Amino acid sequence: MTRAFNWYAGSPLERSAERRKDPDWLAAALAAPATRLVPLWRNRSLIAAAEGPAPRAVLLPLAQRHAWWQPLVSEPPLLLGLVDGVAWFAADFSGVDDPESLAAAAGSGTWVDLRQVGAQMPAGEAAICAYARGLLWWHQRHRFCGVCGRPTLVEEAGHVRRCSDPACAAPHFPRTDPAVIMLVVDGDRCLLGRQPRFLPGVYSTLAGFVEPGESLEEAVAREVFEEAGIEVGRVSYHSSQPWPFPSSLMLGFYAEARTTTIQVDGFELEDARWFARADLQGEGATRLPRPDSIARRLIEDWLAGRRG
Ligand SMILES: [Zn+2]
Repeated sequence: MTRAFNWYAGSPLERSAERRKDPDWLAAALAAPATRLVPLWRNRSLIAAAEGPAPRAVLLPLAQRHAWWQPLVSEPPLLLGLVDGVAWFAADFSGVDDPESLAAAAGSGTWVDLRQVGAQMPAGEAAICAYARGLLWWHQRHRFCGVCGRPTLVEEAGHVRRCSDPACAAPHFPRTDPAVIMLVVDGDRCLLGRQPRFLPGVYSTLAGFVEPGESLEEAVAREVFEEAGIEVGRVSYHSSQPWPFPSSLMLGFYAEARTTTIQVDGFELEDARWFARADLQGEGATRLPRPDSIARRLIEDWLAGRRG
């Protein structure tokens, strides 16, 4: 099935960056009964019907801000944006030792890794939960200034942390790490590899992080050569996907092979092979990566002749 966007993109949120600097607007939003809160606990999302075919995010109405949960968060909620004029925030409950009682107090839900349920959730909800998870993960790991080592404090409703030492005052911004992911094609066949951590039988596209001082095309060529010993020529962009598990932005490409002899590195990949279309379709086909991944979309679009 063709999708108009990659999973975890396409959030219905209007990010409303100008609101982040407006303390009066933020105070009013935090007091508004309609305002919604996305809770997270140690990088897990609160999900209703997590075991069933249609999991849903459990959101807390912020009218309860001054009720049971307020003492349970150590920092102010972070503004995610607006949906139809209603503000959505995220808050981190990781300091709570008993998450099940927290879920019970919220009314429903269990704490699960979004990756286990995201592909079955409504797409917009999955995208918002992924955004909240990525932003909170960044906050958890930037509590101290990377310049002087002193504590940092939340500013701009969670879109900046600033060093608490006035002599330093360095601002730190939420980051996302670019990674290239590519389907290498040689005529009518494509190159897929296996990492040791994959489920049995699964093969996927190659991928890797972009290094400082490197273009995306150079990163594609380097990763393919390092992992599989294949040289590539023309590289063409396909699409991108936020993958905040914990902090990646996947940039998807097709790459034309210039050489065909595979030599796996034995570290990142334990195997790599050329696959014909018939190997990847129908009965007995090789297992493909998870349906919510851009890797899967790169492969399916190539199989359907929609590449490039
Ligand atoms: Zn500092």
